[in-house]
Amino acid sequence: MKSAWLSAPLLAWLLVTTVNPDTACASFAAELERHDGAVQSLLQRMTLEEKIGQMQQLNGAGGSVPDSLREAIAAGRVGSILNEVDIKAVNELQRIAVEESRLGIPLLIGRDVIHGFHTVLPIPLGQAATWNPEIVREGSRMAALEAATAGINWTFAPMIDVTRDPRWGRIAESYGEDPYLHGVLGAASIRGFQGDDASQPGRIAACAKHFAGYGASESGRDYNTTNIPENELRNVYLLPFRAAVEAGVASLMTSFSDLDGVPATANEFLLRQVLREEWGFRGLVVSDWASIEQLSIHGLTADDRESALAAVSAGVDMEMATETYARHLAQAVQSGELEAAVIDERVGNILRVKFALGLFDRPYTDTSRLPPTGNPEHLEIARLAALQSLVLLENRGTTLPLDAASTGTIAVIGPLADDPYEQLGTWIFDGDPGLSRTPLQAIRETLGDASRVRHVRAMDTTRSRSTGGFAEAVEAAAAADAVVVFLGEESILSGEAHSRADISLPGNQADLVAALRQAGKPLVAVVMAGRPLTLANVVDQVDALLFAWHPGSMGGPAIADVLFGREAPSGKLPVTFPRMVGQVPIYYAHKNTGKPATPETYQHIDDIPRGMPQSSSGWVSSHLDAGYTPQYPFGYGLSYTEFRYSDIAVSSPVALPGETLTVSARVTNAGDVAATEVVQLYVRDLVGNVTRPVKELKGFQRIRLQPGEGRTVEFAIGPDDLAFYDRNMSLTTEPGEFHVWIGGSSESDLRTSFTLVDK
Ligand code: BGC
Repeated sequence: MKSAWLSAPLLAWLLVTTVNPDTACASFAAELERHDGAVQSLLQRMTLEEKIGQMQQLNGAGGSVPDSLREAIAAGRVGSILNEVDIKAVNELQRIAVEESRLGIPLLIGRDVIHGFHTVLPIPLGQAATWNPEIVREGSRMAALEAATAGINWTFAPMIDVTRDPRWGRIAESYGEDPYLHGVLGAASIRGFQGDDASQPGRIAACAKHFAGYGASESGRDYNTTNIPENELRNVYLLPFRAAVEAGVASLMTSFSDLDGVPATANEFLLRQVLREEWGFRGLVVSDWASIEQLSIHGLTADDRESALAAVSAGVDMEMATETYARHLAQAVQSGELEAAVIDERVGNILRVKFALGLFDRPYTDTSRLPPTGNPEHLEIARLAALQSLVLLENRGTTLPLDAASTGTIAVIGPLADDPYEQLGTWIFDGDPGLSRTPLQAIRETLGDASRVRHVRAMDTTRSRSTGGFAEAVEAAAAADAVVVFLGEESILSGEAHSRADISLPGNQADLVAALRQAGKPLVAVVMAGRPLTLANVVDQVDALLFAWHPGSMGGPAIADVLFGREAPSGKLPVTFPRMVGQVPIYYAHKNTGKPATPETYQHIDDIPRGMPQSSSGWVSSHLDAGYTPQYPFGYGLSYTEFRYSDIAVSSPVALPGETLTVSARVTNAGDVAATEVVQLYVRDLVGNVTRPVKELKGFQRIRLQPGEGRTVEFAIGPDDLAFYDRNMSLTTEPGEFHVWIGGSSESDLRTSFTLVDK
């Protein structure tokens, strides 16, 4: 797919440009405020039953409108439908709501549009590897346009759960381990879905989820308990949600998980104190699927009635899928147990979003005003996103890029080389595998002559234990000039309820790599997966290693572009890759501890002398067997060129309160190909009222440099960048010394410092 479908300036902008991660426009928040009057007058005309009806979200019937649903909507007992993507059915549901219900209140039509609709983008974790808010925004804009053709006006995305546990299957849906990166990309996605005016055709309401702490589920087991001290909650897990609210997100979804003993769906601290009182959120809060009913399974409530009361009192406006509100709230109001004002507040939040989306004026979808799904422009956005998401982890002896002209034949091996469905990843309810272009297809197109490519699947699935296909694969490898093996995980191995305890390559894939090694040909591994994997057993076996996540519809052409050097890889890891699963959680923004490990102090299990006596002196925070460093750090990713960093400088060694400093460094492309680099800014507050992480990401820019070109990259560091929640949970900035790094990964050592003074 060539760029003709996008204007040259747009293409240049998406592919190359520096993106200064700004905050998204908050126009939707203003739009919400604007409708307060209309909401109040509508509320005055509603019966209690109609109000509670607005709080009910029901599952659609898959293309039909059964009588029970028709009656419920006509009677005003439904505020929203999810999972109906048949445009005729959706418009009929809306018609019933608008024409047959007493007050004609339109429906919210919700769907999980997580990373695309028919056209599929890389999984969100892959999108995060682009470190490019503009491509994330474009991707969400495209997804909204496509979803709108099915009558959808509300997506349950973006998921902005910070997670430091790659065992958790839903890491695939997240932007990784860092709150800052999450905040920037989450805001970008919200801007993409909602646009400047969410009432326009092709714009849909976004939903930041899962509020809050879900990514800290114990042991990465989905739905599990989370115990997060308030200070860590505020300094890490809540930051992206605050950014989402500031970006004007229309809605939030509660988490399934139990937060410090109070499940998020009944957590008044989160839903009332933080969200409404501290942040002033005016949009709507929806439960997760059946998460209100599950409050009694958690053991917080005795039955559904108590669950409904707990959730509504805590601040959940709409109930997804289950019907505890419909069954119990009216009676609770009538008996005086629940104040009618609470219901009015909840329903007001829902109606406000419906007004702001313009649904009262335009409830129906006019598909003639929308472009067709899967069109070339959308595929091009998917290709660019996939291209920028690819992270080059190893490249020994410049194995990559392959030279299409001089490499005679290529063996393309592995279960994921030519699988249109599996490259799409998790959460692709509406994804069209028919749009997928696989790596094998793209490699064949690149080489032109089909006889130069030999494909052997070798394993039925990534989980296969059989070695039956190995001999043919090795034979093909031995006969080729280069070998590209496609490894990883099928889509179903990540996503909701698909956590793994062992995050190495499943099945016999490591053995396949070892067998291919024997062929003695340049061996390139491309890994498609929904999470970081432990790759220690294959890293040394391959000459080059490209991590492709689940790259979506256009994964094939994107991968081929990088394999054959039409573009240098530019993705950077949005999450740390451990050496062994036992290191989890391992993340760059950790605390220093009182005994940090260093190369001088760390002792490996193999170096411990026989009979060594136990002593605490000199011993440090680490694992005897795994060390204290990851396999690949956050922010890491190689290019086909070398970027050199120098001349780090700060505009003043001393900053006054409220002052903004400029930190800069020179970045030079020291190689002989043009390439894009993600320049990263990290800060450390050396002494704090609560201990602060050893490094925190505070800015990043994508820059394109020609061979030999150098550029001075500048970042502003203002008071907000230095603020943190202290031990009294106040947002504060403390005087003292700060270290600042600019570099190409979280392990960069180019550093300067400044001191923040009192006055
Ligand atoms: C997931 C949500 C999703 C919802 C609706 C739940 O199981 O946790 O993220 O939006 O289902 O499909």
